[in-house]
Amino acid sequence: MDLIDMFRTLQSQGIDFLEAISGMSKDDLLACGITNSLAGRWRTLAETFYGPTRSRKQQQACIDAAREAGFSLDALHVIDKNARSLLDGDQWALRLELLALRGTVDEINRAAVAIVRSRNRLVEGADAMAHARRAVKGGKNTDAKGCRNLTIYGPERDIAALRAGWEKSARRLRAADPRLSYEQAMYDAAMSGGRAVETITPHVVVGIGDWAKLLRDDGDDCVFALTDGTTITGAELVAKLMDDHHVVGLYDPVAGPVNLYRSRRLASPKQSALLDAESILCEGPGCTTPATESQNHHIRAWNRGGFTNVRDMTKLCRRCNARNDDDPDAPPRNGRVEREHGRILHRRGDDPPTRNTHPIKNLSAQAIAARQ
Ligand SMILES: [Zn+2]
Repeated sequence: MDLIDMFRTLQSQGIDFLEAISGMSKDDLLACGITNSLAGRWRTLAETFYGPTRSRKQQQACIDAAREAGFSLDALHVIDKNARSLLDGDQWALRLELLALRGTVDEINRAAVAIVRSRNRLVEGADAMAHARRAVKGGKNTDAKGCRNLTIYGPERDIAALRAGWEKSARRLRAADPRLSYEQAMYDAAMSGGRAVETITPHVVVGIGDWAKLLRDDGDDCVFALTDGTTITGAELVAKLMDDHHVVGLYDPVAGPVNLYRSRRLASPKQSALLDAESILCEGPGCTTPATESQNHHIRAWNRGGFTNVRDMTKLCRRCNARNDDDPDAPPRNGRVEREHGRILHRRGDDPPTRNTHPIKNLSAQAIAARQ
């Protein structure tokens, strides 16, 4: 058995490893050559699965499930950490449920976060509890390069608003000095006291079902034939749904985004708003960059005759955009995004297509229109 085989075997026996170390002291673990924080993490895990509990049967069921799945220590860690985040309810039942997840450790983590978050949302006072956890941590240790690291932890809406404020200043700073990297500009914006800006625009997703068929794309508007034999423009169709603060996006589940209607007060570019709601996150598989911080990517590059039809575009963050193989005829390197039957896929050569499977994508206009 070579080293890689040994490593794979060890990785697939995380639960047995925990049993083996459950009697070891922290010093014994540190003597194995691991960091203090990793030793702490392993001891917490060993305590969960092999420590004393009043729920012996459930604990044993979790051990059996972990063994059957062949989970690594990292997978068990993300499952246990998320189960411990449950604000109210049976942690053991949840742990068993999460042990049924499959995929890479990152995929399991994201799915587990989504499941636990949806439970916690229902708990009375959850917002206040999240607010109570607000903290600024770290910033006390200087590294070899002379820098320090600071973590700001708080409710998602606060942090999103803070980032949005910094983004706004960072865009101005980069326009004035193009040599600034995005990260540098964000830092400068933060250091100059960039304020939080709450920017929430409700986006109503209307999927075009069997009741309407797109007749033509008439420049700035579309004309639909309704199943009662009449025709109606997109603007008339959404006028009833529209409120001063809403944008209403029409999405064809098969073709993709169709058009966006917005109140005059909103100045956000039409295509960006449609694409943001369609994707929610960058379309790069495994990527977590919000669509609003991503770039409008031309699926067919400009220099290859791509045109500014919204259906020829999608959202990719700077990193995924730079990695995208823009030339569909060149030998595949990192793969490229494509729109097929309205949905965005990632293709690399003849490999089966992949997509960004982040759970929040279930709330994207792409997914909603497909379900309607
Ligand atoms: Zn990305």
